[in-house]
Order: sequence, then C-alpha cells, then structure tokens
Amino acid sequence: MADTPARKPKASITRIGNRELSPATLMMGHGYDPMLSEGSLKAPIFLTSTFAFPSAADGKRFFEGITGKVPGGTDGLVYSRFNGPNQQILEGRLAVWDGAEEALCFSSGMTAICVLFMTFASAGDVIVHSGPLYAASEGFVAKTLSRFGVSYVDFPAGATRAELDVVMEQAKAKAAAQGGKVAMVYLESPANPTNALVDVEAVRDARDAAFGSANDPQTVPIAIDNTFLGPLWSRPIDHGADIVVYSLTKYVGGHSDLVAGSVSGATKWMTPVRMLRNVMGGIADPNTAWMLMRSLETVELRMTRAGENAAKVCAWLAAHPKVEKLGYLGMIDDPRQQDIFDRHCSGAGSTFSLYIKGGEPEAFRFLDHLKIAKLAVSLGGTETLASLPAAMTHLSVPDERKAQLGITDNLVRVSIGIEDADDLIADFEQALAAV
Ligand SMILES: *Cc1c(COP(=O)(O)O)cnc(C)c1O
Repeated sequence: MADTPARKPKASITRIGNRELSPATLMMGHGYDPMLSEGSLKAPIFLTSTFAFPSAADGKRFFEGITGKVPGGTDGLVYSRFNGPNQQILEGRLAVWDGAEEALCFSSGMTAICVLFMTFASAGDVIVHSGPLYAASEGFVAKTLSRFGVSYVDFPAGATRAELDVVMEQAKAKAAAQGGKVAMVYLESPANPTNALVDVEAVRDARDAAFGSANDPQTVPIAIDNTFLGPLWSRPIDHGADIVVYSLTKYVGGHSDLVAGSVSGATKWMTPVRMLRNVMGGIADPNTAWMLMRSLETVELRMTRAGENAAKVCAWLAAHPKVEKLGYLGMIDDPRQQDIFDRHCSGAGSTFSLYIKGGEPEAFRFLDHLKIAKLAVSLGGTETLASLPAAMTHLSVPDERKAQLGITDNLVRVSIGIEDADDLIADFEQALAAV
C-alpha cells in the first residue's frame, strides 16, 4: 500500500463476469492489496504523522490536490490530518454500502455533522431540517450556527409533499430577507425517540421543484443522518438524498468500543467537505479506522441477527399486559408512515420505544431489574441496551417540547443486540414482573 501512494483505494475486483459483488463480500478485501504490505492478509495500522514523497514534483502535485488548486483531492499520501491508508480503505468500503462515489471518515458522528454544516452554510443562509434531530445536531444548528448568522426552518419528520413545498418556500423567503441562500436540507430518519420516518422521496421532489434537481449547479443538497437504519436497512441515496451521514459509533462500529462518524455522497459534494476536514482535522485515527474495517466484515450479519431478535422480542412485548404500546418500525399503525417505510426501508431495525404502563417509578423498576440488558444510552452494539430518554438523553429538553415529541416518563428506549432472543425475552419477562 505504502510504496505507491494513492488517494483512491487500490482498484479491486467489484464484479465477476456480469455479477456485481455484494457489499458483504467486498468488506473482506476491497481497496487493499496484501502484496503491498509484506503479504499481510489484514491491513497493518499505519501509525505515522507524515508520508515520504517519491519526488519533489510528486510532493508539489499532492499539495495541489490538498489545497484545492487541482479539484478532486490529492492522489498521494501527505500528512495524517488529511488522509492515511487505513482511512482510505475504510472510506472506500463505507462508500460501497451507500452506493456513494466517496465517503469521508471522522473522529465522531458529531464532528462529521458539524463539519458538514460548516462546509455548506454561510452567514445569512437558512438550513431546512426535519425534527426532532439528535439533540447535539439540533443544538449545533440552533445555538452554534446561529452565532454565525445561519438560521433554520424545521418541519415534522412525517411531513407530506404539500407541507414540504410550503416549508421550502418559507425557507427561500427567509434566506432572501437575510441576504443569503438555502444552504442545505438536513434530515434524520427515523427520528429519535419518536421513530417517525421522513419521506425522502417527497423531500427530493419538493427540493427539485424549489431549487432544481441534483444535477442543477444551483441546487440545495439533501443530507440525511442514516445512523438508525444504515447501512443495511436504508439506502437513502436510492431515494433522492445526496449526502448520507453516520455515527459509526452505533451499528457500523457495532461493539460499543469506539466513537467515529462519516459522510458520503457524490464527489462534487464530498470535495468541499474534504477541504474543510483538511483544515479542521477531525479525521478518524488509524486505529479506529482499522477497528471499523473489522466491524464492517460482520455488519450485515450483526444487523440481520439484531433485526430478527428485535422482531421476536417486540412480538412478545406487544402482548404483555404491563406494556402500554411499542414504537417499533415493524409494527407501524399509521398508514402514511407505513407507506414511507414500505418505500424506503428493507428492515425495521433493532432500536425501538417501549412504553411501560405507569410512569417514571414503573420504568425505573423495569430498568433496575434487567439482568442481561445493560442500562446505558447509545445503540447498535452487539449487546442489548435500555435507557429512559425523559430522565437521561432528553432530560434538558423543555417539558412542552417533550410532550410534543411524545417523550413520556414511561418511554424506555431499547436497542436489541445479537444475544439469544429467548434469553432476552426471559430477561424482559422477569424485569416486567418486578414492575
Ligand atoms: C449517536 C448519534 C449521533 C452522534 O454521533 P457520535 O458518534 O456520538 O458523535 C448523531 N446522530 C445520531 C442519530 C446518533 O444516534
């Protein structure tokens, strides 16, 4: 790898005859040639801050790419704030899952999200976003970007095409009044903890009508946080999103042992994000990138098993007398939401809301009696986690906003892992008995 520096991962086999290889297959070797690293089957971890140039002319050429003098990024390894072999291989593999031209990895999901917003938004601009967003994302837009003259217009996750058309016009008018533009449409689907899905196709149609389609140079990019269903159960680029964002900390990392993030999309959107990452830093470190490559080898297996477990556990929970209701994408009761699900999702995920009959005391008793499931925030790991958003992740959300979002004191957030499903049911059964 190191003796022929290259920005793009090494060309590898992505098809056999007419058969295009699936992401699950590509995760084992895509972008890595063992023969360039002493035959090491797995990529070594490249712990270096800087890379030797083959010649002075190469050094100049690489920097022309880094600084944007030549578009499309650099074709050589330069310095570890910009890129590195582990990160390049990882980015090539992440792009495969999303059907994106390029991916960029970051030290956390929030770094990815903040750099993305800062890339596209300037003073006077307006960001259009679905709500609710992950609290830190919503806070960055409302509290930090506002200090730089960027404002926002938000809409509820389930908004229809007609409602979205109105939102786009509102945003346009607001931007014009502020002397700016609409910088980005930013989505999160399903919303946490309501599990409301965003109709990405309708957002794309509304965007196209208001600002022109994806190929229009004046258009507004649609970005989506796909952390809850990606990369397996939802491929938003297929439905009209331009940029996909992940907290890789969750399902992709999948073992609750690292923090990382990514952004993926067409090169024209990724180039400016890469430029700002080059300046600010925030690229994932080589060790984390290596861990993520290991995780990607099993991401389909893990997510499939977790999804099957969640279906079994939810079927059992739904019939339990101490359960008020479930917010689970496999049991949607709203026809509009079901229609969005059918068009956008290939699986219901393994993260859901469990409403225990009663209030905080009952929810606390349930959580305190769990023996297998761990009492912790986060999701998408091999182990089952449970938490109480009203008392934990959403504690600082004002009461009226909580009520609006349906974040009640009896809402337990559950992320099902890859344990034996019947063991999990036994655990929930004894914890519910203690309520
Ligand atoms: C966890 C999470 C984030 C933030 O990611 P970090 O890796 O913790 O920075 C963003 N969006 C969603 C939906 C998340 O669940």
